[in-house]
Amino acid sequence: MRALLFGLIVASTSGSGAQAPDADAMVREAIVEALRSRMGTEAEVAIERLRLPDGWPHGAVQARPDPGARLGRPMRFALGATPDRTGAAVAWTGVAEANVHVQVPHLHTRRAVPRGATITEADVALVRHAVDGALRAWPSADAIGRSRALRDVGPDTCLVPASLAMAPLVRAGQEVQATARVGVIVAEARLVAADRGDIGWVIRVVNPRSRRTLKARVVGAGMVEVIHD
Ligand SMILES: [Zn+2]
Repeated sequence: MRALLFGLIVASTSGSGAQAPDADAMVREAIVEALRSRMGTEAEVAIERLRLPDGWPHGAVQARPDPGARLGRPMRFALGATPDRTGAAVAWTGVAEANVHVQVPHLHTRRAVPRGATITEADVALVRHAVDGALRAWPSADAIGRSRALRDVGPDTCLVPASLAMAPLVRAGQEVQATARVGVIVAEARLVAADRGDIGWVIRVVNPRSRRTLKARVVGAGMVEVIHD
């Protein structure tokens, strides 16, 4: 059992469905979770026109966006049943298509910001609206004071991810809080990051007891989620 490699406490969660929901609801939940893992837990996800494979089963499912998936056009998600055995890889056996709208909190400039300037409280306002483009985290309130403009930005402009360089949320060598999720079980551990990363990045983390290296996705400042495949 992989959770035991961590040597930690196991807690149960009641997240996914007590009363067998239908396949559509299970897939929607999986898509929301997949997008939030890439764009941040504050993302609000609205799914339109979901198309499932014929006869898709009603069990617990995970969704993985196509590598080239972008907001603003229809997206495809690989679907796989959540393994009921700890440590088992997800078998991606179906594909769903959906039109998805994602609102994220992000920063608008209040005034012109020159290239190279550090973003301060006075430069920006926090707003929320639907965004297009790649599935990545947008700079939000946590970017204030720790990011620089990569180009000249005019007033009243969206600060898109590519317009700022931010000090990473996880530094190489930093101790991080890791969670590992298998079905309804969540394990927690203190691991050490081997790479730096921001929200949604997949990095290597090391268990200091076993020296074993795992893959994990950055979900916050000093926080990662171990991934199993
Ligand atoms: Zn905006």
